[in-house]
This record gives sequence, C-alpha cells and structure tokens, in this order.
Amino acid sequence: MKKDELSNLVYHKKNIYESASEEELKKIFNFAEGYKSFLNNCKTERECCSQVIEEAKVKGFSEFHFGDKLKSGDKRFFINRDKGVILFKIGKNRIEREGIRIIVSHIDAPRIDIKQVPVYESDGFCFFKTHYYGGIKKYQWTAIPLSLHGVVVLKNGEKINISVGDKPNDPIFYITDLLPHLSQSQMSEKGKDIISGEQLNVVVGSMPYKDAKTDKVKTGVLKILNETYGIVEDDFISAELSALPALEARDVGFDRALIGGYGQDDRSCAYPAKEALFDVQNENTSMCILVDKEEIGSEGNTGMKCKVYEDLIDEICSALGTNSRQVRGRSICLSADVTACYDPNFPNVFEKRNSAMLSCGACINKFTGTGGKSGSSDASAETVGRIRQMFDRDKVIWQSAELGKVDIGGGGTVAKFISQLNIDTLDIGVPVISMHSPYELISKADLYSMYQASLAFLK
Ligand code: MN
Ligand code: MN
Repeated sequence: MKKDELSNLVYHKKNIYESASEEELKKIFNFAEGYKSFLNNCKTERECCSQVIEEAKVKGFSEFHFGDKLKSGDKRFFINRDKGVILFKIGKNRIEREGIRIIVSHIDAPRIDIKQVPVYESDGFCFFKTHYYGGIKKYQWTAIPLSLHGVVVLKNGEKINISVGDKPNDPIFYITDLLPHLSQSQMSEKGKDIISGEQLNVVVGSMPYKDAKTDKVKTGVLKILNETYGIVEDDFISAELSALPALEARDVGFDRALIGGYGQDDRSCAYPAKEALFDVQNENTSMCILVDKEEIGSEGNTGMKCKVYEDLIDEICSALGTNSRQVRGRSICLSADVTACYDPNFPNVFEKRNSAMLSCGACINKFTGTGGKSGSSDASAETVGRIRQMFDRDKVIWQSAELGKVDIGGGGTVAKFISQLNIDTLDIGVPVISMHSPYELISKADLYSMYQASLAFLK
C-alpha cells in the first residue's frame, strides 16, 4: 500500500479552517453575514415564516393552495398558519420514479412565553407572568436584556404585531435575579430550582399613573399598551407574546470564526436549507419544510406531527397526476437539526470519538433518542450510505456523531415523524455550543458546510 492509501484506512475528522483556501474562507465568511441578519430579523417562527415568504416571492415563488395545478419548473410556497412554510420546486424528472428531495428544519426556539393573564403589580413594579417554552435552564434567562415579540388578536378580530426591544432606542424588558450577598440559600439549591418557573416574571414598568386609585403602575402600563397597540388587559387571552434575548448576533473570537446569537437551534440549519433550495438547479422535485413546535414535541397543527405535510405531498402528486404513496416511498429526507458540539469545558458528558467537533463540518446523526436509542428513527445503513455519497461527490467536509455519552441524556428531532410517512430520513445538523441558552455558539465553517451539504443533497 502507498502512503496516502494507508492514511485513507483511518477515519479522521478535518477542521475546515485548516484546509480552506482564501477563496473558500471568503465564501464561509460572506455566508455568515446573511445568516446573522436572518437571526436578527427572525426571532420567532412567525417572523422566520414571513421573512422566508418575502424572499421566496422575490425569487419568483408563488403561493400554492390545495387544488392548484402544477407543472415542471414551478416554484411554489405553502404557508401553514403563518408559523411554518414549505418551499418546493417541481423538477423535470418523473416524481413517481425519483421521489422528492426534502429538507426539514424547525424555526421555533426555546423562549419565555407570556401567560394569558399576565399583568400584575407588586411593590412599585409591573410584571408579566410567563410560562417558558422548550427545554431551558431557567437561571440563564435572568438579568439579561429581553425583547417582546408576537401577536395579539383583539376582540374585533384584528391582529396586532408586536416587536419591541431590539431596535437601539427601544426599551427592553428584564427578569430579576438575587444579589450574591443574599444568595447563600439560593446557591445551595439544585440548578433547576435556582430560579423557579413562577419566578420568571418580566419587569414591564414601574411608573405609577397618578390619576388611578389602585394598581397605579399596572394602570400606567395598560394605558401605554392601549395608546400604542389598542390593547386592553383581556386581549392577552388571545395573544402569543414571547420574551426573547434582546441580543444581536455577533462574531466571536479575535479571528471572528464563530457566531454567537439567539435561536441558532435550529435557524443555523433552517437558513442554509432554504438558501440551498433557492440556489439548487435540479432535474428532480425538491422541497424545504420549515416547521414550528419542534421544541415542545412537534405537537399541534403547526408541528411536524400534523397531517398537513402528508396532505401537501398528496396534493402535489395529484396535481401532477401521480400516486402519492409511490412518491413518498421513493423520497428521501434530511432532518436538519442542530447537534451538541464537543465542549472541552465539559468533557465528561461526551464520548470524543462519537462527538461533533467544532469546525469539522455539518454532522450526521444516524440516530438520536435516549437510553437504548428510544424515540429514535435510526436511519438505515443504506440511507446513510446513499447520502454520504452525495456529500463526497460534492467534496463537502462533514462528520458523524451522536449527542453525548450513552445513558447520559439524549434528545429527539422531527426525523421520526417524517420517516413514519414511509420516507428514508437522516438527521444532520450544525454542532452547537451552549444549546438552548439565550446566546448559542456555532462555527461559521460548520454553517457553510451545512449549506454545501444541503445543496449536494438537493442536487
Ligand atoms: Mn433543534
Ligand atoms: Mn432544540
């Protein structure tokens, strides 16, 4: 055997930055700029959805309704209740022979939701009560600037959009924490009890309204809300408002190779997925599904468990005069969702050989789940084999991992719900540090690798 043949015997992960040419580095850094503005403009699933629809329209996509006719070359988008969007391009090749190339990622992220009866006053403060959404470490969400995003549906049915706290002159909102001087007992609590769910109350005002007899601070806040948005207190009952980190996405490190920002689970996969769908030149039919509710189990009619995705494929097939069951059986899907990046500060939870390493590329996870792979869809060797050929053909630098050590925890993705539709599905994602925190960290190289992987797959 020759020397380079010998080195091919062994699997090594490659740090993308080590081998990247000047030109490749430029592409990696340029791609990150668009992504950072996406993170800054799209902090909720609704904002992601409307931004992607706007971009799609500019690129010549038009809205699809069930019952519409379709033909080869069509570029369409389907909106699910303003919280999810599916982009698709009809290819030249026969869909019943080639199936659909599908990438799914989620556009919801862990956050602090405002309760339906949220406003109360106490000792000079006015607060909003909250109920957190997704798996968070509650103590991380105190003492940071927060913005408020969402919609309120008024009694007359009018829908008011709210987004305050991210522009430089906006006020921000705030969850208090205890000073260390008085925290002796708090600091001896278990991590999950340092801040309780009912302590995640957001400060929204503190100035008493002189003319009010009682609840002067609360009255003052309600008066401003009424003047600004036309809201009265019971309108919160039909509202979806969230408190989100009021923190801009930024370059991290002297070399600017990393990106810090909120909501990178899973917008670091959603952004490259939709960019790849926009950019792909393809003879086959391709689809990008951006879905809501992954963080709370894919429930409800905007989550991946909803039948609308199967219905949409049925509708596309009947519009093309073909059999949906046959098409689904021949389709293939990337479930694009982030994975845990090996963190040298916490080596004990990782098994290094099977961990996603920083800047070594988009990471496939053959399976997810907990314990004995419970809750995992477990892609077949054949599916993994087919997809790695696509990546290698296009010289994508990618890696393989699982979430952490066996029996130490775990997690799931939407992969199992897609594979239930009789579609071969593989998990892939960008490695993330500090996942589910208010400010997550990823590598620009991994983000770009995710784009290249998505493109190679859709081709
Ligand atoms: Mn995720
Ligand atoms: Mn998540």
